[in-house]
Amino acid sequence: RFITLEGGEGVGKSTQMRRLAARLEAHGLTVVTTREPGGSPKAEAIREAILAGRTRSFGSMAEALLFSAARIDHLDTLIRPALARGDWVICDRFSDSTMAYQGASGEPDAAILRALERIVVGDSRPDLTLILDMPPEVGMARADARRQARGEATDRFEGEAPAFHRDLRSRFLAIAKAEPQRCAVIDADASEDEVEDRIWREVDARLLS
Ligand code: C5P
Repeated sequence: RFITLEGGEGVGKSTQMRRLAARLEAHGLTVVTTREPGGSPKAEAIREAILAGRTRSFGSMAEALLFSAARIDHLDTLIRPALARGDWVICDRFSDSTMAYQGASGEPDAAILRALERIVVGDSRPDLTLILDMPPEVGMARADARRQARGEATDRFEGEAPAFHRDLRSRFLAIAKAEPQRCAVIDADASEDEVEDRIWREVDARLLS
């Protein structure tokens, strides 16, 4: 089974990914956790270049192709082999982040992004996508606090204006509305334990029962 976690900045995707993996393992399942952009050595190299802003001068279409190249490598070297072994895979961000982030920036247009997704992802679509939702101001404040604690710099997308993050949220919610069979919206403005329980209820009902 293939599960993806999606949502804006600071909504708690990576924390909840670890918690969900632990729960599934306690259930006797073998779980592989990974993330995008990145997830394999070549894809991580592409991630670093894009997030540091080194590919900005390439233009948005070429960047979309770089994200695609990263995803192809990640799928081929890690995700598909794990699914073929019968492992469960949980990925922190996947195609919906492309639709939301590159979509929010307006270029390339949605039709091109969808065409790229068909080419790159093919049949390897997630069985379940958990969209962690909270007001963007709350998420941004959390992400800022985390970065300060770690002494990290802001990446290019984290530095975008509040309106960008509000747009992003509505894009994730629109995806969930368009594909309710695949997507579950989780209200993530709650304690980590509570969010973990909310996620577990969805996973249990949709994939384990
Ligand atoms: O999830 P994480 O915060 O590690 O993602 C790294 C950054 O990549 C985020 O700041 C997000 O804005 C950006 N991103 C993007 N397009 C994607 C996926 C992630 O711009 N398709």
